[in-house]
Formats: sequence, structure tokens, C-alpha cells
Amino acid sequence: MNVKNCKKCGKIFNYIVGPQICPACQEALEAKFQEVKEYIREHKDASNIVSVAEACEVEVNQIKQWVREERLTFGDDSAMGIECESCGAMIKSGRFCEKCKNDMTRGLIDAAGLNKKPVEEKKAQAREAARMRFLDR
Ligand SMILES: [Zn+2]
Ligand SMILES: [Zn+2]
Repeated sequence: MNVKNCKKCGKIFNYIVGPQICPACQEALEAKFQEVKEYIREHKDASNIVSVAEACEVEVNQIKQWVREERLTFGDDSAMGIECESCGAMIKSGRFCEKCKNDMTRGLIDAAGLNKKPVEEKKAQAREAARMRFLDR
């Protein structure tokens, strides 16, 4: 048995998996999530996360976390958003803006050499084929 202290209320509980929060707090958090989601849907003119956090009595960081987990998404017509973790541009959900996501994908491909490999391989194959023909003669 894995007993831990709840990060929110400090109560000892039987920890299984996921965030270190007791079932009661997790349930309360889930209820908060629904409340925030509902609030955002009903208040499309809400212009910043702080006002939502105050209205729903939840931490700003908690709301941001839900947005980063893509559980919460702000509509395109909403003025609300969170910052891209890389460049700080405003985004509606997730962790990075489209530009950074593209840059990162490209960076990964470059790092793995995936975008050059097929060409190099073809060249090597061509060289090999030429050599074979030469030996055949
Ligand atoms: Zn708790
Ligand atoms: Zn960005």
C-alpha cells in the first residue's frame, strides 16, 4: 500500500496513480473544472483568465494547466488564451503555438537527419548499382 499526503488538503490517502491528490480533492477539482468550462461557455466576453479564476474561485495556474492539457479550449472569438511555452505568443490550448510546433517538428527531423536520409540512401544505392554493373563486365 502506498500512502501519501494529499497535495491540496494534506490528508493521508491511499495513492494509486496520477496527481498526488486525494479522491475527495480530485472530485472537487473535477467539479471545479466543469464549473470553469461552463463559465467560459456562458461568458464568451470574459477577457482574461484571472477574472474567470476569481469568479470560479480557482487558481489561475489550475486553469492554465487544464488549457495546457487541452481539456479546456478558448474559442477563436474569445480574447482569452495562454502563452506559448516557447515564444510567449497567445494560444488557445496546448503548450506551444503553431509556429513553434512547426519549428520543433522541423528541428526534430533535422536532428534525426530524417529529411536528408532518403537522398543519401538513394545516392549510395546508385553508387552500389554502378559498382555492380562495373563488376559484371
Ligand atoms: Zn485532499
Ligand atoms: Zn510559440
